[in-house]
Amino acid sequence: MDYSAKIARHVASIPRSGIRDFFELVQGRDDVISLGVGEPDFVTPWHIREAAIYSLEKGQTTYTSNLGLLSLRKSISKYVSGFFEIDYNPATEILVTVGVSEAIDIALRALLNPGEEVIYHEPCYVSYSPSIVMAHGKAVAVETTKEDGFSLKPEALEKVITPQSRILMLNFPTNPTGAVATNEDLEGIAKLAVKHDLIVLADEIYSELRYDGVKHVSIASLPGMKERTVLMHGFSKAFAMTGFRLGYACAPQPIIEAMMKIHQYSMLCAPIMSQNAAVEALENGAPQMQMMKDSYHQRRDFVVKRLNELGLDCHTPGGAFYVFPDIRSTGLSSKEFAMQLLEAESVAAVPGGAFGPSGEGFLRCCYATGMEDLRTAMNCMERFVGTL
Ligand code: PLP
Repeated sequence: MDYSAKIARHVASIPRSGIRDFFELVQGRDDVISLGVGEPDFVTPWHIREAAIYSLEKGQTTYTSNLGLLSLRKSISKYVSGFFEIDYNPATEILVTVGVSEAIDIALRALLNPGEEVIYHEPCYVSYSPSIVMAHGKAVAVETTKEDGFSLKPEALEKVITPQSRILMLNFPTNPTGAVATNEDLEGIAKLAVKHDLIVLADEIYSELRYDGVKHVSIASLPGMKERTVLMHGFSKAFAMTGFRLGYACAPQPIIEAMMKIHQYSMLCAPIMSQNAAVEALENGAPQMQMMKDSYHQRRDFVVKRLNELGLDCHTPGGAFYVFPDIRSTGLSSKEFAMQLLEAESVAAVPGGAFGPSGEGFLRCCYATGMEDLRTAMNCMERFVGTL
């Protein structure tokens, strides 16, 4: 059968993920030090795992409410009120999702009409552009630069806004660059969202992982923004719970209701044992989260220092657990650099080009890896750069 004619055209048009391509090369190789996968190296703290085990032990193996357990939505509401300083009603304004991934997907599908434009800053998380295409929207990327710390500038945003612009996607701290927005820029961006009546999808999955004592500010907390923002957050990163597949969206009731319409038919609900574990994470997870964050902070400082020492210009990212060194001085493309580094030194990092054209010339290294491996990886990279 000719399957190419059977696949929907908009899906066929989506390129394969550059990350996936790269990771297939690394599969099954025990000798490789990976700075590739964007995932904590910590196992989920024991008390959170225990809550999932208890949930199963008690025989909680059923569906939950489509919105998610009320106990979890109440905990989310309390946590979001404390951390982001925004109040959401647990009965109507919070939807528990299968990771932030699902929240992104259903928010786009719930809000977009075919052909409407979604603006996002690039380099960006690999799912954004494909998710927009799958929701029949038009993806509009705004390039960010090393000189601006890879942060979105309001002036650059304003240039791409058209009458068809409907949604603005923001991700601070950013995957893959670790970029954060200054409060001034965030205010400028918020003003533009209000002026042009844009809905903002704020993917703040790395918001706890801010360093140098700086507190994260959500765009949803700025004047006039709660009513037009879908705040998306989850448990994968700061609580080291990637495998639990749990996230949530906080938004005005009509938007949650629209997202629910899709969620109830596509997912029904998130897994109950993950939801029970998440209550424990929110209620009692702060000390362990702080310990992990302190460890990332230390590793960030080490990696940034070593990369600059070995001749790759690397800005100091304000958040997440990625660095994005500039490799243009080597004369190699990001893919060539990553492939040759893997071949010569068995160190895996992701070519910046996988995160959009403006990521070309850079390399994404995830430093959520043990300190010993980071030391070895930096020594290997130094040797590799020395041979170029
Ligand atoms: N958003 C960003 C910016 C990410 O980096 C990731 C995962 O790497 C996700 C969303 C997906 O997170 P989740 O595990 O909650 O689906």
